[in-house]
Amino acid sequence: MADAIVRALLQGSNLKVSVAVLTQTAREGRARHRLKAASASLFAQGLLGGALMASLQKGETRINLQLECDGPMRGFFVDAAANGDIRGYVKNPDVDVELSEGVFQWRAALGNSGFISVLRDVGGEYYRSSVELVSMRLADDLNYYFKTSDQVATRVALTVQREGSEGLGRVAGVLVQAMPEADHEALERIGRDLESKLEDAVAHLDTLEANALLGALFPGVPALVELPVRFTCTCSKERALATVENLGVDEVQHIVDTLGSTAVSCQFCGSKHEISLPELFAMLARLGRPQPKH
Ligand SMILES: [Zn+2]
Repeated sequence: MADAIVRALLQGSNLKVSVAVLTQTAREGRARHRLKAASASLFAQGLLGGALMASLQKGETRINLQLECDGPMRGFFVDAAANGDIRGYVKNPDVDVELSEGVFQWRAALGNSGFISVLRDVGGEYYRSSVELVSMRLADDLNYYFKTSDQVATRVALTVQREGSEGLGRVAGVLVQAMPEADHEALERIGRDLESKLEDAVAHLDTLEANALLGALFPGVPALVELPVRFTCTCSKERALATVENLGVDEVQHIVDTLGSTAVSCQFCGSKHEISLPELFAMLARLGRPQPKH
């Protein structure tokens, strides 16, 4: 089943809802960056958080959700577009610590301090806001972010459930946000057991799919928009060539003389763009230093 995010409105209480299912996206992120279990699980949560926040954006805009911490994970970066395109990376792909149960679950990976930072594109202007991590649990810290920084009443819940030997068995999240003249008591009520309801619904659906999950969480509420989500990147061979060419003629010459070829690795998606010796020669010719024929 393809990953998607659906948006809906709770009529009467003026609350908007986004529901995301990102199981395939999270697995693709794990494969691209060769993530070990704990890194993959945190990244799955980061992708959920980023996709849910991007679903609040208008038009062709995007958001960056970043976490920095003093534990071995060091943090993650997620770049999510309002159209469902998403990419990112974990700073340390190799974290494989045993996660304990309960509220201190993530301390071994995240440490004891850090912050969440959100960069939002609002009509071509960028706004950055950040908050310190207080819970060291992404969903709780996102709730804290919305409360202190965004100041729009919002509740977020995330779940990453194991299925047998698959650590990323089911990956899903939900966000409920107040609109003008919202019923804040209703939001309060929904927020109280949003996480347990999400966990329950995700575990019990025969097929985990965003529309069905919306129906399980908010029976009878129709989806207004359904958007496919996919792990994709804006990098390309052309951009890699431009990056190397921008190093300048002496640096390109140095690569030719010492290495003979090079590669540009993309931090966001793990792709490696190889640049061959003939391509470097063509570059030097463009830069005004044609090479003697070999
Ligand atoms: Zn890339």
